[in-house]
Amino acid sequence: MTLVNLNNMLKHAMDHGYAVGSFNMVDVNSLEAILRGAVQLRSPVIVSVAEIHFPYVDIEKLAFLMRTLTQDAPVPVALHLDHGQSLSAIMRAMQSGFTSVMFDGSQLPLQENILRTAEIVRFAHAAGVSVEAELGHVGGAEGQLENDEDDSLFTDPLEAGLFVRQTGVDALAVAIGSAHGVYKKQPQLDFARLERIKEQTNIPLVLHGGSGIPDEDIRQSIRRGICKINVYTELSQGANQAVHQALAAKPQLPYPEIKISAGRAIEKIVMEKIKNFGGGQGNLQDQ
Ligand SMILES: [Zn+2]
Repeated sequence: MTLVNLNNMLKHAMDHGYAVGSFNMVDVNSLEAILRGAVQLRSPVIVSVAEIHFPYVDIEKLAFLMRTLTQDAPVPVALHLDHGQSLSAIMRAMQSGFTSVMFDGSQLPLQENILRTAEIVRFAHAAGVSVEAELGHVGGAEGQLENDEDDSLFTDPLEAGLFVRQTGVDALAVAIGSAHGVYKKQPQLDFARLERIKEQTNIPLVLHGGSGIPDEDIRQSIRRGICKINVYTELSQGANQAVHQALAAKPQLPYPEIKISAGRAIEKIVMEKIKNFGGGQGNLQDQ
């Protein structure tokens, strides 16, 4: 199976009441771990690279590797740019074969966010690439462990309806009380707001800052229209802990073993998340 964009993948999730996990890779080891987790559960998966991680990765090489690794994958895989903020990052991702991009104009005034998102949708769609946008602002920065939920700005449902109609985006990231990074206190998701956003937009909605949200809240948000959930912080923490433990047990552990311990931790968390998001039931025949 070749790489797919988000459209059929998220439609299937929406129709069948689950959410697809979107996991950030930062190197080949994490990429392989994410794919192993999804394949074992026979679940579709979104592998993302955040623009903020560009200093760590060579996205052209990773995209090339992704295409090779997924050629015979038994599950649909999307390669997605997470939090693209510059046009150059979005162009670079598309040129290297990403099937989906996020343009994050959430810090811009509404009209400017609409204009810039609509322009990106036009050229991305011409290339068969799906587009996620963000309205309102999910606090904290993707890929950073520092969390500042206080700079969140909740999504306005009526503005969301207007935004989706005027831009033609395929998926919308909403700010309903989640935040990137480690939560200082338990997040309170605004489910009533989520329901109103869903009514106004009727497209797949995306929950950012999925690490650390209680399982029951995840299920409640899926019931109200969330079809894609982003996870990075827990993968990073899990890999970090696994490496610490492995080195504590054996300080002279060879480098390949260190990498394997990090990869196994990521794979395990990916599988837990996929199950928690209601996926991984092998229900892929009609995709
Ligand atoms: Zn995010």
